[in-house]
Amino acid sequence: MTTKNHRPDDPGECPVCFSEDAVLEFRPRENDNNWKCPRCGIFHCSLSMQSILSNTTDAEYFGCHNSRKRANVSAWIHRNQDHRIFGQDDIPFLLSLTPPSIIKRMDDLLLFFARHTDAYGTITKVPMPQVISTTWSSERKEALRLCGALAQRKLTLENTGTTTSTYNLSITLDGWAKIDELQAKTIDSKQGFVAMWFDEDMDNIYDNGIHPGIGKAGYRPFRVDRTEHVNKIDDEVIAGIRRSKFVVADFTGHRGGVYYEAGFAHGLGIPVIFACRKDDMENLHFDIRQYCCIDWKDENDLRERVQKRIEAVVGVGPVVPKYEPVAKSV
Ligand SMILES: [Zn+2]
Repeated sequence: MTTKNHRPDDPGECPVCFSEDAVLEFRPRENDNNWKCPRCGIFHCSLSMQSILSNTTDAEYFGCHNSRKRANVSAWIHRNQDHRIFGQDDIPFLLSLTPPSIIKRMDDLLLFFARHTDAYGTITKVPMPQVISTTWSSERKEALRLCGALAQRKLTLENTGTTTSTYNLSITLDGWAKIDELQAKTIDSKQGFVAMWFDEDMDNIYDNGIHPGIGKAGYRPFRVDRTEHVNKIDDEVIAGIRRSKFVVADFTGHRGGVYYEAGFAHGLGIPVIFACRKDDMENLHFDIRQYCCIDWKDENDLRERVQKRIEAVVGVGPVVPKYEPVAKSV
């Protein structure tokens, strides 16, 4: 797959995942292409971006040639069908994508099966290309292993009749119980709540660490003191946490409010990303020490690790950050 040559004008092959059943619609007025791919879904691609992805040498130059990177991009597009145009400026963001944890991918797959199921006890036939993108897999074999893992946990029963284009299954009663549990937890939010010490010395840590870290993971940061509001600040905090997909709690300075907000989110089942400056870790309350806490050195270290942790825990979000265009190195 990675060594194939692709002509930019080849209408049958998706420039991202190389699916041969993709449909292309050229829109000369907008100067971009509108792709409908069975694996990636619908997306617009600028002509320059398409030419980079379709040409093996160019794709290699920009670092987006291997099947793992392409699988990440395909999965992300599939999850975020917001019909935006992908251009060359988006390459750093697309290259920074990493798949969520195996368990998260299995949970998403089970929810995907549920959306395709009409009634209890019936056989569900799901299109294989979408199973591949839902599970962030780079090929059919990898996706089938995750399908098999759900069956192994007795959440699904594999049915005969699976072909290269469809996977056949039925969901067990245990599977439906798990789906209820997952749906109750799912908050469809683009927001990440930030709990931290609001001290001037921490401004740089927020502006150049936490804020861009959340942004690069595909979410909008929400810090209550930086938001205009009309209600009491306590109410804003509670409402802000409830509306958020996750909370980033930085314990540096050990403010009571941060412990309270992290505990509140935890009680609601909202994932909490724990962080604390390395030289302040020893003062961390013992309740927090059991969690895997990001012990950061500076804002750059924090930014990168916050982004990676969010992506691992809740997956990449739908908000596309703006980057500087990629400079061509010599
Ligand atoms: Zn595709």
